[in-house]
Amino acid sequence: MKRVAIIGGGIAGLAAAYEIARLARDGAPIEAVLFESSNRLGGLIETVREGGFTIEAGPDGWVSAKPWARELAVELGLDADGELISSNDATRKTHIFLTTPENPSGRLVPMPDGLNLMVPTNLAALEGSPLFTEAAIAAYRAEPARAAELLATIPTHDESVADFTLRHFGPEVLARVAAPLLSGVFGGDVHTLSVRAVMPAFVQMERTHGSLIEALSRTSNLEPRTSSIFTTIRSGLGTLIERLTAAIPPHWLRLNTTVTAIELSSYLTPHSSQLADKTARPPWTVSTSTAGKRLAAESVDAIFLATPLDATRSLLTALDAVSADLLPTESSSAVLVAFAYADASRVPLPPGFGFLVPPPSQPDTESGAPHLDSEMWVSTAPSLLLAGTFADQKFPHRVPPNGRLIRAFFGGPAADRIARCNNDEIAAIARLELARVLHANAPVSGPAPTPAPPAALTVVRRWPNSLPQYAVGHLDRVAELESRLRAFPGLTVLGNALHGVGIPDLIRAARQAARATAAITHN
Ligand SMILES: Cc1cc2nc3c(=O)[nH]c(=O)nc-3n(C[C@H](O)[C@H](O)[C@H](O)COP(=O)(O)OP(=O)(O)OC[C@H]3O[C@@H](n4cnc5c(N)ncnc54)[C@H](O)[C@@H]3O)c2cc1C
Repeated sequence: MKRVAIIGGGIAGLAAAYEIARLARDGAPIEAVLFESSNRLGGLIETVREGGFTIEAGPDGWVSAKPWARELAVELGLDADGELISSNDATRKTHIFLTTPENPSGRLVPMPDGLNLMVPTNLAALEGSPLFTEAAIAAYRAEPARAAELLATIPTHDESVADFTLRHFGPEVLARVAAPLLSGVFGGDVHTLSVRAVMPAFVQMERTHGSLIEALSRTSNLEPRTSSIFTTIRSGLGTLIERLTAAIPPHWLRLNTTVTAIELSSYLTPHSSQLADKTARPPWTVSTSTAGKRLAAESVDAIFLATPLDATRSLLTALDAVSADLLPTESSSAVLVAFAYADASRVPLPPGFGFLVPPPSQPDTESGAPHLDSEMWVSTAPSLLLAGTFADQKFPHRVPPNGRLIRAFFGGPAADRIARCNNDEIAAIARLELARVLHANAPVSGPAPTPAPPAALTVVRRWPNSLPQYAVGHLDRVAELESRLRAFPGLTVLGNALHGVGIPDLIRAARQAARATAAITHN
């Protein structure tokens, strides 16, 4: 019987344990033990259910185009139970909190229809959009005709999302669309994020067509449209965690247990194929502690690291410091504040899924000058918030009748600073910032923004260092890291440090690792 230690009980670790349980039920000689340092499973996924509200304290759904989360949910019976729901795309509008010289305090401006990230599928929809100046619309219109030039000048190396966007569409599209969208998802800086890691589809499109607009118009004509952009679970993603947990043998789960070290037995030499040798002692030792007290070490045949970046780094460092150095060096923090109101009419919102705040523009480090022309240069972000979700408009069924649910996010350095405040202070800052953003479209002569009325329910969550930053060169470092790890039989790095931060990607990688490990057992 092969024994796998899974370290971390977030979606990655639980999906791996679920798959191993499934394989074991089908007769594979494999079992798992999952160590989770906290007193709950789910990691960043947490659903608070109160007063008829379903409040996501972390992620609130997944991108429908990636099938692996839906597949798992269907296997767990969530589709049959009517739990799988789609985003309400009739109200699918995302607003940008735009600051201009004419309006330095900012206002919410809807993104035009048909944008796939920063690439338009419908150039006509850009006409008259208050988000763009004529110069940006002209840059968009010119991009298809620049296909040959763009093809001929594709860099041989990875580049930042900022440089990629600048080459295709110029500084305004970068500042007003690409930067807020990417910061909203990765909490990161477009000037350091790797385009090959975070926008592989666009990189591929550029390689085939040069022009992204041209490439997208061809693929959108060929591909069937997915019914909605996001999918989630009616009663919250917490239900996915509960169903997964129910499908894992309870004695495999060790809560309140922190893995402090992993060691490969000294009798093993790197690259040895002990996994196939049924007579060998299990090669790995896992040391754990609970409430600061050391527990006995356990022997296992394989290890899945499904921990957050910092924990993965520290466990890996003791094993192979060079591998640990190949992990992303930074991760971004998030602070969420959710406000639930019984009476939506007291908190009017523009139609849409929510808003994004463009991060401050970066000065060009070489010349000391701003990247953008001085008109668009803003040295500070127009709001402390990174983004806001209008949860009751994005997903139906998440609030009682007439209810309103807004989720406000702080990200990056602002989140690190704000996380030090107590919950009441954080909620007060979020209310003020929301009021500024939501009231910004009111007439200038109108009353000064006041905080939204006190919410019936407020949820505050800190997620420190939760989103690893995939910096330029990320894919090369991951390839090198995984090649080095082949010297450590049975060790797999899961979680969001390497192959994507989205829930579907994490599920796919975890299940695949479980199957691969079980397959070695059979050899
Ligand atoms: C605010 C926010 C919103 C997001 N929204 C979305 C979204 O809408 N859609 C989407 O697809 N993705 C979203 N993401 C990304 C996604 O939620 C995460 O990438 C994903 O949930 C990470 O899962 P994980 O299992 O890798 O790690 P985690 O969820 O971080 O789980 C790791 C677990 O390991 C445990 N652990 C740590 N150290 C040890 C140790 N030494 N021993 C034992 N256990 C340990 C931790 O306690 C934790 O439970 C969002 C992320 C954030 C922060």
